Amino acid sequence: MKLVIDEKRCKGCNLCTMVCPYKIYKPGKKPNERGIVVPELDRPERCPNCRLQALYGRTLCGMCQMICPDQAISWVEEKPGEKKKVAIEF
Ligand code: SF4
Ligand code: SF4
Repeated sequence: MKLVIDEKRCKGCNLCTMVCPYKIYKPGKKPNERGIVVPELDRPERCPNCRLQALYGRTLCGMCQMICPDQAISWVEEKPGEKKKVAIEF
């Protein structure tokens, strides 16, 4: 699983950058074509949801997804052949 921000939904409020205990979200730098500055992901493979959700079959954190007012955050399966990245960080 990997973490993604849906740029079509995000309004750049940066709430996700404030709640993530792993500081995976960083304020973005450039506005997109809609003029929205979408946060950047800093090594999202560190998110415990990505690396442990499949193993335990349940959500382990999910703060960012809960707080996002636009339902822009989700976890998706990697495409066939795409490398699955996992990083253990405590
Ligand atoms: S689920 Fe938790 S650790 Fe993972 S990106 Fe969201 S707030 Fe950060
Ligand atoms: S909380 Fe949601 S809408 Fe706000 S910046 Fe993060 S992804 Fe975008």
